[in-house]
Amino acid sequence: MKDEIQKICKKYHYDKTRLLDIYWDIQKYFNYIPQNAVEILASELDISLSQLKDTLSFYHFFHQKPAGEIQIYVDTSAICELYGAHDVIKCFESHLNCKVGSTDPSGKFGLYTTSCIGMSDQAPAALIQNIPVGRLNPNKIKRIVSDLKNGILPLIQVTNTVQKKADVLLGTYTLGECINTLKTITPTEVIKTVTDSGIRGRGGAGFATGKKWALCSAQTEKTRYIVCNADEGEPGTFKDRYLLRYFPQLVFEGMIIAARSVGAQQGILYLRAEYSYLKGHLEKALAEMRQKQLLGKNILKIPDFDFDIRIQLGAGSYVVGEETALLESLEGKRGEPRVRPPFPVEQGYLGKPTIVNNVETLASVARIIKNGAQWYRKFGTELSPGTKLLSVSGDCEKPGIYEVEWGLSVGKLLELVKATNPMAIQIGGASGICLSAKDIDRKIAFEDIPTGGSVMIFNKKRDLLKIMKNFIEFFVAESCGCCVPCRAGNIVLNEQMEYILSGEAAKVDLQRIKHWAGIIGPSSRCGLGQTCINPILTSMQAFPKLYSEKVKEHEALFRPFDVKEKTSEYDNIVKAHQNRHGDIS
Ligand code: SF4
Repeated sequence: MKDEIQKICKKYHYDKTRLLDIYWDIQKYFNYIPQNAVEILASELDISLSQLKDTLSFYHFFHQKPAGEIQIYVDTSAICELYGAHDVIKCFESHLNCKVGSTDPSGKFGLYTTSCIGMSDQAPAALIQNIPVGRLNPNKIKRIVSDLKNGILPLIQVTNTVQKKADVLLGTYTLGECINTLKTITPTEVIKTVTDSGIRGRGGAGFATGKKWALCSAQTEKTRYIVCNADEGEPGTFKDRYLLRYFPQLVFEGMIIAARSVGAQQGILYLRAEYSYLKGHLEKALAEMRQKQLLGKNILKIPDFDFDIRIQLGAGSYVVGEETALLESLEGKRGEPRVRPPFPVEQGYLGKPTIVNNVETLASVARIIKNGAQWYRKFGTELSPGTKLLSVSGDCEKPGIYEVEWGLSVGKLLELVKATNPMAIQIGGASGICLSAKDIDRKIAFEDIPTGGSVMIFNKKRDLLKIMKNFIEFFVAESCGCCVPCRAGNIVLNEQMEYILSGEAAKVDLQRIKHWAGIIGPSSRCGLGQTCINPILTSMQAFPKLYSEKVKEHEALFRPFDVKEKTSEYDNIVKAHQNRHGDIS
């Protein structure tokens, strides 16, 4: 084992920041990451065992027990659940003869669940040995398992349906056409153009991109980095999947432009593990750019303009989509959000000024630099210029990717996607807001409904409360646990939703939900805790009857408190500790 671990460490030049890659290689070799491999790693990389375990235990796709040669992850996000994820799990269980969360008796197959894999437009879906497969049904599963048993992996089955193009982001594109402009404008002019365009970050928070770049450029430290956040993990979103597949070089041009503006020499694209099947494709796109001297030394023959990009694969974590958590992950650590300030533009990757922008922002910036700020401002609204990519899924006739101008009304969107009989529209993913069909005049724009792009539509046959429960369960699983209000508060909200769904809740439980939401949101460190309360609060507002019908009139129910059950987890921790270290008393 030692030889193999050393070989892997050597491949990554014993670079501690490449710990995720090292773990991926170890897992590929052993099908999991054995305890003694971690011990060897501790001495090879000179990292403490506890830090290594910290990182290892944080990521969803890393296993510390044998996890099967072929690992199957069924997507249990809200849309996949509506389209039968539960039956998909049962079907795999029966064909593989194993229970979800474990391996089959031979140890060849491992069956697990995971949150959104970016396939909500073709639900129900699963990742099979990192290969996405959508529109699963019993016959398809039977065939897949039979093929797998004969050593045949499924083909990648991703359909990218673009339902609407606005010719801003998704128009025609020729390699190099955007960065060509860099020959004629200075870095200061680049930042001015981006600022004048008014573009705001497409990840959801909407920070002005030009301002971010100007702040980075103003730092005294001259080593700077450009990071592309390709970790779209918001349930229901899949539009970056499309950009990365069909416009990777447009995204890379955006990174090159950002690099030129602040004088960065290295860029990293952080690719979510669920999109690992795109890694080879992205590497090929980079190789072509290097070959055409659009990356590397003296790009476009501009003296001293040296910049290159590498791809970093994630390992499964929603919160890593938060920019400071992403930087931690890039440094080979747990993806826990940092306390801000300092902001990444001041102290980002390896403590150096760093621009972190998402895939869509960078692709948009490339178009802006080619066509100019005034051209961009012709689209959208004054406060939200340009266009936005939406990932539409759920109960509509035309799910898929839409490029729309900011300012589009909800009513117009429902018409475009042909949503007949919609009851609720969840905009912005699990952390977004829940609207009713009455909200047709609301606008998708930073001044009204900002969004990272996920739009999920639920018709009147759906149980909205169950969908809300799915969202809360997702936050319980994805909270990094740093802040007590987020860690414990989501568990409380989940419990309250259980009471409501089982008919055990009283009116006071609805007040409790609001009370807890009032604590969790304002006292959480990062966007996850600050926004996880949105769906439940907004759905209570939009559909008060759905909740009130489920709760009883009386003040409060007496719920027996089982001390043994409530303390069982603590007992297990104590037992585990005793097994390792002896009696703790
Ligand atoms: Fe972690 Fe939640 Fe705190 Fe964010 S809010 S840092 S996810 S515990």
